[in-house]
Amino acid sequence: MPATRFQNGDTVMGRWPGSNLYYEVKVLSYDNKNRLYTVIYKDGTELELKESDITSMAIFKQGATRSRSRSRSRSPGRPRRSRSRSPARTSRRSSSRTTDVQVQRDKLKEVLEVRLTPMPMKHENNSNSKNEKKEENNTDNTASTIIEKTETESENQAGGRYNLRRRKDQGDGKAVEMEKKEETEALSQTKTPAAIKTTDLEFGGRVGVFLLMFLLPLAVLALLILSGQKDASLQSFPLELPTLQSLWDTQVFGIVLLWLLFQAFLSLLPVGKLVEGMPLKNGKTLKYRINGFYALLLTAVVVGVAVYQGVDLSYIHAHFLQFCTSALLIVTLLSVYLFVRSRWASEDELAPGGNSGYIIYDFFMGRELNPRIKNFDIKFFCEMRPGLMGWVLINFAMLLAEMKLQNLENPSPAMLLVNIFQLLWVVDGFWHEEKLLTMMDIVYDGFGFMLTFGDLAFVPFTFTCQAYYLVSHPNELSVFWIVTLITMNGVGYYIFRKANSQKFAFRKNPSDPAVSHLKTISTATGNSLIVSGLWGFVRHPNYLGDIIMGLAWSLPCGFNHLIPYFYLIYLIALLVHRNARDERQCRKKYGSAWEEYCKAVPYRIFPWIY
Ligand code: NDP
Repeated sequence: MPATRFQNGDTVMGRWPGSNLYYEVKVLSYDNKNRLYTVIYKDGTELELKESDITSMAIFKQGATRSRSRSRSRSPGRPRRSRSRSPARTSRRSSSRTTDVQVQRDKLKEVLEVRLTPMPMKHENNSNSKNEKKEENNTDNTASTIIEKTETESENQAGGRYNLRRRKDQGDGKAVEMEKKEETEALSQTKTPAAIKTTDLEFGGRVGVFLLMFLLPLAVLALLILSGQKDASLQSFPLELPTLQSLWDTQVFGIVLLWLLFQAFLSLLPVGKLVEGMPLKNGKTLKYRINGFYALLLTAVVVGVAVYQGVDLSYIHAHFLQFCTSALLIVTLLSVYLFVRSRWASEDELAPGGNSGYIIYDFFMGRELNPRIKNFDIKFFCEMRPGLMGWVLINFAMLLAEMKLQNLENPSPAMLLVNIFQLLWVVDGFWHEEKLLTMMDIVYDGFGFMLTFGDLAFVPFTFTCQAYYLVSHPNELSVFWIVTLITMNGVGYYIFRKANSQKFAFRKNPSDPAVSHLKTISTATGNSLIVSGLWGFVRHPNYLGDIIMGLAWSLPCGFNHLIPYFYLIYLIALLVHRNARDERQCRKKYGSAWEEYCKAVPYRIFPWIY
């Protein structure tokens, strides 16, 4: 090798391409012609790096020493965290909990790696090196070291620096030395993160969210008015507007409140397992009671008994608009409550996306990440229970209303299909309720108007639009159509479920026999990407499955109007946007490995189309 800064066999820190992350790598060779070093990462990935993407370990160690001495000197002034919460203590867990620990560790790793939050660049001039200052994030107990590097070049490239939270090993049964433990605690105390100021405003910023807050409820009301009209054509604008008085009924409001209280009561029942959510940025985890499936069964029993006792559920159809306005009022009141209480939330309880300092924006996005009243998690409850359960109940009410209004002895095949297909989706959601804990809504988004509106108004009143439409717009289905739709929904469900389960199983344990046969691309973060099977067909097969199901839910309504296709159109828009958001994060996380995956699997959601 000619005179180069690094020699074959040197252990150095190499930047993961496309990111600001540095990992320990070994230099394998130097290509004089291209002036590239071939390096190998700890997970076996070999890459060619430019000299400017490599730096010596010594500089990082200096940074680490400085960082540690600062940590220690600052820590005594801070309140000591209870030892039981210390991440190091978990290493004493018994080996019988290894699987839990592994899952926990995987979850933690995912959270730390997914959430690279761009922060405004801050220059510090007290660096030993002229234009570099590096801080060790944490080197203890980690498979590889992640380091933040702040330098002019990376500033130019990324336009910001990434605030990486400490990677913590949840333990593998090995005892940890006392000194290490203290050090880890000191580090974690020093690094208790201050709230990140939201600078990247979504949805058109303050003006955008202000408009959305009015437009979204109006759009839902318009959809309901249109679906209920005899002529549900989009061309029938302007709508026959109901009087303001007819939008309100105190009894209906009372029923909605009762429904919420009933579901809250069910969610608090001490049945079902208690599981830990994803680690928060302060290192703690919250516990969640997973009993949605039981709550669904109990709700079905109560509703069944009520109908048997003569309760007329078609009342919901007759007062549908009033139910919707009641839900909208509750959304508004709850959002105000959430915003007000967030003023007392500590810095590390705030969501990264809802802390801009602009009242309207933060009100919409949600300031607090996990608002709780004692053990009652308001966000987790609203995300699943009243809305999803309400969706099924409303569909059932529409089925009864159809029979009543159209004098049918049995519900129409179209109505039955819509009810059964959507019930299957909801049952599946409750069966896999625990997985919600890893989703963006729970892990990242604050709980404010946006989610409250989505959970309590949008889901129950727009996802039911096919059933609502069918009550006044019957559609005959031939046997051929029925079979086709059942097959379509079955195929969609199979793809959706298989893709989600495969990814979940793979992330939990890549050597699981159910997924170990899949081909993968390794990445420097330790996570691999599946590149065969469904995940080798398109990059988001789970979205594809969801969309196929969405189509099967709309087609029973026929082709006379576009309105029953609202859900499908909304779902495609949502998932295309979500796909773009996710791919941006994956590109940051996995750098060139993600590019490789995109080359191997060129289509995002729709094969040969998109
Ligand atoms: P996904 O389940 O699609 O997860 C995306 C993550 O999966 C990526 O960030 C990456 O995270 C990992 N990943 C991506 N590609 C691969 C690969 N090839 N191999 C292994 N891991 C990979 O996220 P969502 O939460 O968006 O969706 C979950 C489900 O919820 C979907 O089925 C979706 O359709 C549904 N959904 C439905 C909605 C509705 O209104 N009907 C709304 C929103 C979602 P990492 O590598 O860090 O693990």
